[in-house]
Amino acid sequence: MKMDRIMLKLSGEALAGDKKTGFSADVVKDVARQVKAVHDKGIQIAVVIGGGNFWRGRTSDDMDRVKADQIGMLATIMNCIYTADTFRSVGLKCHVMTPFLCGSITELFDRDKAIGYLEAGDVVFFAGGTGHPYFSTDMGMVLFSIEINADVILAAKSIDGVYDSDPEENPDAKKFDKMKMQDIVDKQLKVIDLSAAVLANDNKMPMMLFGLNKEDSIVKTVSGEFTGTTITV
Ligand code: UDP
Repeated sequence: MKMDRIMLKLSGEALAGDKKTGFSADVVKDVARQVKAVHDKGIQIAVVIGGGNFWRGRTSDDMDRVKADQIGMLATIMNCIYTADTFRSVGLKCHVMTPFLCGSITELFDRDKAIGYLEAGDVVFFAGGTGHPYFSTDMGMVLFSIEINADVILAAKSIDGVYDSDPEENPDAKKFDKMKMQDIVDKQLKVIDLSAAVLANDNKMPMMLFGLNKEDSIVKTVSGEFTGTTITV
């Protein structure tokens, strides 16, 4: 797998560690250490972070979906600001871009500018999802990966790969080493949002999914010791 420019997707839950909500400083510091090691190999890094450690718009049934999704998008921005600051503490230069204006807090998304930052060796965070309700950060992750010509999406989850059934409910659940994005679309597997899977499939954007809680999992993914699931297109 070519990995000159990667999109790292961190789920909000994975950043929270055992607490399941908010941030685990230790988890984010460890991600920063690993991303620095990946960066030192000369790999360009873009980042998208979910918001599930703070808020999930789609499950807030008792309020207007658009408003709930707006709160969710803001949650992803908080996650990116926090994580970018931790990345800076290990010597990585970072930019946080959003698809809508956030005053002086973030930069407005500009595809050419983002590519320029990546080529200069800076890390670019795409915060705020797509900027639209009824989408998810999975969609943002695929959309921005395509726009910046990333080679692959590295999706760090709280689960260590794609299984044929829920391993928390079925102790005999089988993990796939490899699968096709088309299978995710056809079988509507809940690995990533269906609309995001369709977009990734149509635009030939592969994905490698792994557990963030496994030691050195990000570094191992780029250095050939990958143990998660590779989703080919
Ligand atoms: N969100 C949105 N549009 C986007 C991205 C995210 O409305 O383009 C909102 C949505 O409410 C979502 C929340 O932000 O539930 C957090 O994003 P994430 O993808 O992590 O959602 P989760 O899968 O945790 O529900």
